[in-house]
Amino acid sequence: MTAVVKSVTELRQVVAGARSSGQSIRLVPTMGALHEGHASLLRAARADGGFVVVSVFVNPTQFGPREDLSRYPRPFEKDLERCGQEGADLVFAPPVEEVYPPGFATFVEVQGWSDVLEGASRPGHFRGVCTVVLKLFLMAGPDVAYFGQKDAQQVIVLKKMARDLNVAVELRVCPTVREADGLALSSRNVYLSAEERGRALALVRALRAGRDRVLAGERDAEAVRRAVRGVAEGTPGVTLDYAAVVSADSLEPLTRLHGKVLLAIAARVGATRLIDNLLLSVTENEAAEVPV
Ligand code: AMP
Repeated sequence: MTAVVKSVTELRQVVAGARSSGQSIRLVPTMGALHEGHASLLRAARADGGFVVVSVFVNPTQFGPREDLSRYPRPFEKDLERCGQEGADLVFAPPVEEVYPPGFATFVEVQGWSDVLEGASRPGHFRGVCTVVLKLFLMAGPDVAYFGQKDAQQVIVLKKMARDLNVAVELRVCPTVREADGLALSSRNVYLSAEERGRALALVRALRAGRDRVLAGERDAEAVRRAVRGVAEGTPGVTLDYAAVVSADSLEPLTRLHGKVLLAIAARVGATRLIDNLLLSVTENEAAEVPV
């Protein structure tokens, strides 16, 4: 079983010990309810060598007032078991007061980049994400931190934050892990009924419809956006939030496709909000899907 610490003081002690024995520090930030997607990050960290710290913390500041903070799944014992199976060296599972003591007042915001796509639908979300991730970086002092392509905008915003604030951490991105039928793994999939689980496939089908248009030669972003939107809007029980075709470097909307292109979608399936994305590498004459 992996060792667990709950305070920043203990975390720093253990990490300092690992560092003094010459190990590099690897951090995998999570909100728990671990699944194969998280496990893939743990395995990537394990394979890179060094001392692997997993944080398990449902971060309240990244949830909106009407979101699912109170009912977010928290199967802590199962998570610990999973961390052990994947060879994590330490689990950092702080209580909320350890991260946000009374009177906490300092937040980090990546202006502009936090207000589009997910940020437009979830005001304050990335402010919460950036704040907690920067805090985790400062608490654990990792050399490398691991994130999933599943949350594409999160990675883009966090990389920008790290650049802007000279944070000496390398951010490594791991491909989205999917079920055999294509559904992206998410801790929120447990909210779906059997019927909704089927409808949720609309997200990946929509993205793939957009991708297929690009692979067939389409370079007009609006046409690709329409293809993505069409599949999602054509599925009963699915309410599209956004379908976006943007630069994967800057999150800027594109008119003509070129370079690294992110197809991103968010939709509500019943009461559950899901996101997914695909990354494409596009030139005038060629296009390919890239895993990360
Ligand atoms: P969360 O616990 O949802 O905050 O996610 C923790 C980390 O796991 C984030 O970097 C996510 O992008 C990543 N992650 C979540 N789902 C997947 C997935 N299906 N494939 C790969 N990474 C994932």
